Amino acid sequence: MAPLRVLELYSGIGGMHCGLTESGVPAEVIAAVDVNTTANEVYKYNFPKTPLWPKTIEGIPLKELDALSFDMILMSPPCQPFTRIGLQGDVSDPRAKSFLYVLDILPRLQKPPTYILLENVKGFESSEAREAMVTTLEKCGFRYQELLLSPPCLGIPNSRLRYFLIAKLQKEPFAFQTTNKILEEFPMIHSLESDCSSTAQCLEGNLQADVDQNNTISSTPCGTEQCPQRTFLFKLETAKDLKRKQSQNNDICIRMLEEFLEENIEGPSQYFLPPKSLLRYALILDIVKPTCRRSTCFTKGYGHYVEGTGSVLQTATDVEIGSVYKSLETLSEEEKLEKLSTLKMRYFTPREIANLHGFPPEFGFPDKITTKQRYRLLGNSLNVHVVANLITILLQLH
Ligand code: SAH
Repeated sequence: MAPLRVLELYSGIGGMHCGLTESGVPAEVIAAVDVNTTANEVYKYNFPKTPLWPKTIEGIPLKELDALSFDMILMSPPCQPFTRIGLQGDVSDPRAKSFLYVLDILPRLQKPPTYILLENVKGFESSEAREAMVTTLEKCGFRYQELLLSPPCLGIPNSRLRYFLIAKLQKEPFAFQTTNKILEEFPMIHSLESDCSSTAQCLEGNLQADVDQNNTISSTPCGTEQCPQRTFLFKLETAKDLKRKQSQNNDICIRMLEEFLEENIEGPSQYFLPPKSLLRYALILDIVKPTCRRSTCFTKGYGHYVEGTGSVLQTATDVEIGSVYKSLETLSEEEKLEKLSTLKMRYFTPREIANLHGFPPEFGFPDKITTKQRYRLLGNSLNVHVVANLITILLQLH
């Protein structure tokens, strides 16, 4: 079989490209398109042989796209118009323009692609952009399946609930029975069957975790295995939050964070939370230990903004978090800081986030890309393993 010709739109740092490689499908990315110069430098560094088009998607004439004669589109359109916290401008938002252009050219291509995979934030499923997408797909004769998936469904201790759509041309049936409901787990097909019966449950817990992330932010003692009886309800945490986190931590289908941590961190001091952040955000940090089996979604502001951007790691694992937080309010700033510092809390490094996202060890950043830029790019990226599995499912024959 000739390798599939793949067009990667909104390519960023190449999360989709990594997922394609991991899937093992014989394929070649024949063009990647993105306007972000920093992302493009990282992409080029990792995929020097892939033609990268540093231009806007809506600026590419139909003729040029036709000339590529691609079989598959992988795309993560910019998510701002569809986030629950952002202004829900949806299709009227100028940032949606390029996506509408993609929908516009799809029926006009000389040879439509056989396969499409789209990733977006949760919320896309109820957007006008999604309506426009499925209308176009139906018009062009595609079958499709929508899914809402988060990495814990693959045993990865990180929440990142995302909307996915996989589509293929009618003449190629899916290997599973499609449904117009949005699936919240991978469809059962033989090669992906898991021997872990509670993975669906893991996902359910994390759906809630993701939803809560923007509403209630809490600070939790993790590692409940060590102290099952003692539960501390910190100021901003509800009993429900605590229960959910505990159940995630006790789910042995999910790997421990320690498997994803770096052994020798370069310039470790830069990752420790500065005193100002400790004092200011102590009560809203989501604190996890290396033995935890969960972490919240890392967003592009991680390492810079504290609130709701992702978990922080307690590296002094023998210190009991409950004793640190107990009667914290009654202390002076200085005493507070002294107590909080005993936990030795640090941010996850960009490499650790890349590990949780499933980027392979050989994936890297050019030296000149700053830590802040790395967090930003990774925050916009996706879970590579989830994509790899979806590509496998998409390509599976009936
Ligand atoms: N999946 C990617 C990230 C996608 S984020 C990864 O793994 O990194 C969305 C990307 O779309 C951003 O990198 C942004 O620069 C790019 N983008 C947004 N609007 C665009 C447009 N009109 N044309 C080309 N690229 C665009």
